[in-house]
Amino acid sequence: MDTGIDLSNIEAVVFDFDGTLAETRIDFAKMRRLTIELLQRWGVWEDGMAEDKYVLDIIKAGRENLGSDPEKVAQFEAEADEVLEQVELETCATAEPFPGVVEALQELHENGLKVGIVTRNCRVGVASVTSRYHLYHDLLSTRDDVTRVKPDPDHLAQALKQIGVEPQRAVMIGDHITDVQGAEGLGVMTIGVLTQKTTREEFEQIGADAVFPDVPSVVAAIIEARKQP
Ligand SMILES: [Mg+2]
Repeated sequence: MDTGIDLSNIEAVVFDFDGTLAETRIDFAKMRRLTIELLQRWGVWEDGMAEDKYVLDIIKAGRENLGSDPEKVAQFEAEADEVLEQVELETCATAEPFPGVVEALQELHENGLKVGIVTRNCRVGVASVTSRYHLYHDLLSTRDDVTRVKPDPDHLAQALKQIGVEPQRAVMIGDHITDVQGAEGLGVMTIGVLTQKTTREEFEQIGADAVFPDVPSVVAAIIEARKQP
């Protein structure tokens, strides 16, 4: 298969988690409701705050209404983290890897490639899925492990440093444009997979080096490329 990219020198494959390796359906409506309740409890809720905003933006707006008492802010942030984590954990409790993903990661390992997972999800939630299904990985880096999380390229840069592979010898694979943005300026090859809502056109517009249907098809292409003389 001609993929249009040279995968023959790849030594590390880094994956996004949600929607790439596993089917996870985070209950954003519930996350939103619990967040609004949190802000109401803290007396920082204002009508109209939830209009067209992500949960993280609602939390940020609530934090801005708190004032500058650092203890108060820290406590509020801790409670907000708990809300997100509670919903994510419920999601991960039922999450399953996509077909062929367990075997694909194992095959990368058996072929001497390093496997990384870089995610905005929480460590406990993702680790519960990777251990339940024996998803092979050399490194799991979640939002709990870094100060600057994806799409900040520092998240991926730190992960590669830990794995010990040069960016030019790595590929980042994800289901969302933020996975491509998270590799910007690093010299890491990027591949989009069509397992969620992002389209081929959207991946190409953002500058992904290649687009594949899913993780097993990318892994097959990487293994195949290494066999070429
Ligand atoms: Mg994803």
